[in-house]
Amino acid sequence: MKKSKPIYLDSASTSKVDSRVLGEMTPYFTEYFGNASSNHSYGAKAKDAIDKARIQVSNIINCDSKDITFTSGATESINLGIKGYVEANPEKGNHIITVKTEHKAVLATCEYLETKGYEVTYLDVDENGLLNLEELANSITENTLLICVMYVNNEIGVIQPIKEIGRIARDKNIAFLCDATQAVGKVNVDVEEDCIDMLCFSGHKLNGPKGIGVLYKKSNIVLTALIHGGGQENSLRGGTYNTPLIVGIGKACEIALNEFENTVQALLKRRAELQELYEANDIGQVNFKEVATAPHILSITLKNQEAEEYLLLKRNEFVASTGSACNTALVEISHVLKALEKNDGRTIRISI
Ligand SMILES: *Cc1c(COP(=O)(O)O)cnc(C)c1O
Repeated sequence: MKKSKPIYLDSASTSKVDSRVLGEMTPYFTEYFGNASSNHSYGAKAKDAIDKARIQVSNIINCDSKDITFTSGATESINLGIKGYVEANPEKGNHIITVKTEHKAVLATCEYLETKGYEVTYLDVDENGLLNLEELANSITENTLLICVMYVNNEIGVIQPIKEIGRIARDKNIAFLCDATQAVGKVNVDVEEDCIDMLCFSGHKLNGPKGIGVLYKKSNIVLTALIHGGGQENSLRGGTYNTPLIVGIGKACEIALNEFENTVQALLKRRAELQELYEANDIGQVNFKEVATAPHILSITLKNQEAEEYLLLKRNEFVASTGSACNTALVEISHVLKALEKNDGRTIRISI
């Protein structure tokens, strides 16, 4: 007898491509394969599809479509946003402020820049994983040019006070970059209302394809390119346009926006069921119930079981993780739980 697959509860690490997204992408691999930069009808067909995708993406974060740059994923968007900004704006200073619980894409980029002479402040978080706004304001110096704070934490699901951070940054004329990879499609992201100057996310966290991401940058933000080439994406990112993946992330954003209310309701319902399952049966306790969290991520501390051991035991029933996917391969204690002083080895992440 064929064994049934375990239930997938690891959507924060990646998600399945929606069949409607795949359906939209397929003809751009086969029939409409033209190079979007070509000056003929094959090129025009691809270019039109990319223009449409740019609008679909801009609608979900409320920006102008000309402020969207397509990249290979959130990691590249974050690298382009941070390195590109500090390189293009040396007169604005050499100090970056970020948080200890950011994704490694942000932390590793900042650590790299430290080796190049930049100064980085890594803010602490409280027991709920949130930064302190006063501490943020106090850490700003005349050399601060960039603040990087994520919208939703990928390991614990808590939502940082983005609008307040955006206001502080704007008041001080400091650029604000937000990694919204876990937020787009699950919480209301609005770059205008939230005073976000640069925003990054990936297609594959919202039922789009892997290998495609977005960098939004406000029109007045100047960046230096990481990848130089044929002048694509306003010379911010060289390389032949990846039309099928761009079409895919566009469609994924369109669906996520159209179905936003239903998706959130469904996620909350499932979340409540899972919470009940763990708490009523006294298996574990759901964390961060006192603060705002994204609807798809549940952090659970098991009552009397090691996290790794528990997931191994349950692996034929369901799959989840102990932290971010980048961490599990290393079996290294999560830097997020470490920052929270919660590295008891009994905390798991369930993501729907
Ligand atoms: C997944 C993730 C990233 C990295 O996305 P890639 O698609 O791997 O580049 C960055 N930040 C957060 C919060 C994520 O969840």
